[in-house]
Amino acid sequence: MNNNRICDLFQIKYPIIQAGMIWCSGWKLASAVSNAGGLGIIGSGSMYPEILKEHIEKCKAATDKPFAVNVPMLYPDIEKHIQIIIDLKVPVVFTSAGNPKTWTSILKQHGIKVVHVVSSAKFAKKSEAAGVDAVVGEGFEAGGHNGREETTTLCLIPAIKEAVKIPVIAAGGIATGRAMLAAFALGAEGVQIGSRFVASLESSAHQAFKQSVINVNEGDTMLALKKLTPVRLIKNKFFEEVFLAEKNGADENTLKEMLGRGRAKKGMFEGDLNEGELEIGQAASLIKEIKPAAAIVDEIWNEFLEAKKELLQ
Ligand code: NDP
Ligand code: NDP
Repeated sequence: MNNNRICDLFQIKYPIIQAGMIWCSGWKLASAVSNAGGLGIIGSGSMYPEILKEHIEKCKAATDKPFAVNVPMLYPDIEKHIQIIIDLKVPVVFTSAGNPKTWTSILKQHGIKVVHVVSSAKFAKKSEAAGVDAVVGEGFEAGGHNGREETTTLCLIPAIKEAVKIPVIAAGGIATGRAMLAAFALGAEGVQIGSRFVASLESSAHQAFKQSVINVNEGDTMLALKKLTPVRLIKNKFFEEVFLAEKNGADENTLKEMLGRGRAKKGMFEGDLNEGELEIGQAASLIKEIKPAAAIVDEIWNEFLEAKKELLQ
């Protein structure tokens, strides 16, 4: 896309970024999206350092296009991840769930482009001050971890646009070209898309989870665990149990115990649709088919162009 700061920044053809998603976005998905002209992201939150190294090496072998790694700052072994990213010369890093000051200057000293994910205009400003190249504004519609304030994409993007000069990437609720166009109307120069790419051939999500994404209808996802880390989930058995406990006033410790360890892996990677955490966005209700990632990029881009033409008529 011409005259687009996101395409220029990452050296990509379309301003379509595939979100870093634990257990779903390994090297296969990231390289497929990058090969299709978007920016693919390896989600490192679910990867032990050796696994991350393997995924970066495989991604490099599978594409000569730029790709990124998402580093959630909650990650316990983050120093090791950062070192691997620097050693293997990953071109772009998306940091999330933490303070952008911590790693931005170190990464930038190594020539790595840095983007930070935020859920408010206040944190977008902080990210700009920390020296990031762009911000992702992620609204309430998004799957997985989510802002406590529940600001929707429609309200968040114009507020961030007003607050910062660096380019803004919109996320949350975007699975189609029409939604992408809406995000551009709000001031975004790129979109980050998660749920749509979970239901791709190349995603490392379990087949049963991909199928459950296809089956999601309007209203089938909801935010849970606000007392811990708010997360949007499919309303399965595990969700219903947590929801009931929260309604009955369960405290933080009780909820932590109910969550236990490895729920996300159980649901999304091992395909346990009852006991696992199934992280997905509201836009899942619009997804009807599991497709190759390249077909998804094409479809979104073509619909974006068509819808733009319609509006200009
Ligand atoms: P790779 O050689 O790329 O995988 C390399 C390693 O990365 C493996 O150890 C694998 O875990 C791990 N891995 C893959 N994707 C992720 C991710 N998103 N987050 C964290 N770790 C990851 O092989 P593949 O690409 O073929 O591996 C992924 C594929 O294997 C997927 O299609 C997945 O559905 C399937 N798979 C499913 C399993 C399950 O349902 N329990 C188990 C294994 C694979 P691991 O060592 O656990 O395979
Ligand atoms: P849990 O504490 O429930 O479980 C930890 C999981 O992470 C396990 O499945 C474990 O795999 C895997 N893991 C990978 N590397 C490590 C490591 N160095 N130490 C311990 N466990 C590791 O956490 P969650 O599953 O809820 O989240 C895992 C991580 O993913 C978080 O630390 C966070 O950084 C990140 N996260 C990011 C999100 C995002 O939006 N990008 C969303 C949710 C979480 P195994 O079972 O094979 O031991």
